[in-house]
Amino acid sequence: MKEIFASQTPRCDKHQEEKLRFYCLPCCMLVCRDCMLLTHQGHNCVEAASRVSCVKEDLKNLLAASETEVVSAREMDRTIDKNSQSEEENSKKVEKDIDEHYNKVLRKLKYDRDELVLQVRHSPLKMKTVCEEVKNWLTAMTNTIEVTKKILEGNNQWEILGMKKNLTDAFDRLSERQKDLTRKAESRRVQQLCYHLLHSLL
Ligand SMILES: [Zn+2]
Ligand SMILES: [Zn+2]
Repeated sequence: MKEIFASQTPRCDKHQEEKLRFYCLPCCMLVCRDCMLLTHQGHNCVEAASRVSCVKEDLKNLLAASETEVVSAREMDRTIDKNSQSEEENSKKVEKDIDEHYNKVLRKLKYDRDELVLQVRHSPLKMKTVCEEVKNWLTAMTNTIEVTKKILEGNNQWEILGMKKNLTDAFDRLSERQKDLTRKAESRRVQQLCYHLLHSLL
């Protein structure tokens, strides 16, 4: 080993006659005898050959240290890669969710719009219909009232007793019908209010 080292000892660039037989410890470099006496005067210089195993050891230690650093860097690389992948997947998922939500809202709006249009077109509670029903009710009520008055005026007790149930039923039915008409007129009014409100919003 020593022989090989000796045979390969390079010459100094600055002092061509001299070989780099020494190693300057503070400067960490090979030096020749002249360098040692001139440029590296006062530096702790030792025989190069004696330094080889020590430097080898230093380099091996550096290699060992770098190995664990490389391992942890590779691990970091994998983790970051995985994270960035899941990050990308996540943002794609969020994008998809937004689209789905948007489409859902659009479909719902379209549905509501169609429903409203249908209601406006085919509402069974058209004011005209309600009006007609009210007129019919008034006619029926007037008739019932007239019949009842006539029976009372006629003062025929058998007729009065005989018609009692019919007339009471007729008044009851008319009363029920009247409540129903009030409800219809009211809900129609509310419906129209809703439409107007909606219209003012659109
Ligand atoms: Zn030199
Ligand atoms: Zn030096």
